[in-house]
Amino acid sequence: MKVMKFGGTSVGSPERMKNVASLITKSGEPTFVVLSAMSGTTNSLIEIADYLYKKNPEGANEVINQLEKKYIQHVDELFFTETYKSETREFLISEFNYLRSFTKDLFTSFEEKNVVAQGEIISTNMVVNYLREMGVKAVLLNALEFMHTDKNSEPDIAYIKEKLSKLLEENKGYQIYITQGFICRNAYGEIDNLQRGGSDYTASLIGAAIQAEEIQIWTDIDGMHNNDPRIVEKTEAVRQLNFEEAAELAYFGAKILHPTCVQPAKYAGIPVRLKNTIEPKAEGTIINNVLVRGKIKAIAAKDNITAIKIKSSRMLLATGFLRKVFEIFESYQTPIDMLATSEVGISMSIDNDSHINEIVNELKKYGTVTVDSSMCIVCVVGDLDWNNVGFETLATDAMKNIPVRMISYGGSNYNISFLIKESDKQRALQNLSNVLFK
Ligand code: ASP
Ligand code: MG
Repeated sequence: MKVMKFGGTSVGSPERMKNVASLITKSGEPTFVVLSAMSGTTNSLIEIADYLYKKNPEGANEVINQLEKKYIQHVDELFFTETYKSETREFLISEFNYLRSFTKDLFTSFEEKNVVAQGEIISTNMVVNYLREMGVKAVLLNALEFMHTDKNSEPDIAYIKEKLSKLLEENKGYQIYITQGFICRNAYGEIDNLQRGGSDYTASLIGAAIQAEEIQIWTDIDGMHNNDPRIVEKTEAVRQLNFEEAAELAYFGAKILHPTCVQPAKYAGIPVRLKNTIEPKAEGTIINNVLVRGKIKAIAAKDNITAIKIKSSRMLLATGFLRKVFEIFESYQTPIDMLATSEVGISMSIDNDSHINEIVNELKKYGTVTVDSSMCIVCVVGDLDWNNVGFETLATDAMKNIPVRMISYGGSNYNISFLIKESDKQRALQNLSNVLFK
């Protein structure tokens, strides 16, 4: 079985939902479909939650009313029979009344997660009803029944696998199995989610659990590009990526794929294919175990990076210095992305600066600290095994007119990263494309 995941814009209107229906039924083979909420809906639900945190039920009700109006309109455009129209309309009304019920009581993060989960619950119900109206044998499997996380908020792989195979066994003979991306239950049985953009992760976890033949992630761009198409001229779709290369690109800024999505597929050895709903015939990008030797694949960039440098003569010949520094970041749950060391100093980059003041204060115990904000990581990805010669020179040559704050190379076989000012990003990306892909 294949897993096909469609993001928010791919189910963003009744028209697009019909398009999804035709894409998933085309092969005639049993298919597992994962859907996001319609685009914009998760944001609206978060807005509702924000109003309720601030004890403003009127604000929340206004957003709920607008959303309801929009969805009720969708029903008339999506369905063509009165039975399905009224059934879905009733479902939507009960959903929006359910959302209204949250405006009357105490609001905590528990309620928030429940509110935010409704976007995927609504979109999947609409699409499954539409498929049934079309005469397709389709069934909705509730993600809350099988997608569970453990006490560390990590997916409970064993549970997912067992529960999902049981559900599939109980629902034999369907052509289309639909489920919600993003949403799950946590170790305490509460409704939770896999973080923003987590539907890709759902698809990958399901693919791994059912040993799918392939996991397809459908968005609105033709595969992963070799550079950011919004910034650089004449980017090209990359046809193939190794799992490691894809993970680096997703983490360092390529928006098309959520970084967590790669792991489950990689461990299960299941290829991930990125496809374009608007141009379904386009080849897209395949991510698999194959590593093409001697090739630079793509460039990505990640903004909003803060660099922190600590300089200390106490580091000279001392043991345990790095550990002490890292422990400070760990105690504030702040992951370090890039790292460069010298005998008397360390530079690190972080993308979450919510505890920057506390971290800097504690680091000051060990030396002189400097902070640079509004930085950007530019990352070149491909076969960068250290035995290959020439690529580092080409990449650094492309950066020759740009002030570089940090360089990281040799951490993996797949990446060389530069930390630069955000204001130099466009120039850096264009120069790298010119030099590496000419
Ligand atoms: N609907 C969720 C979000 O907007 C999950 C997703 O689309 O992947 O973040
Ligand atoms: Mg997404």
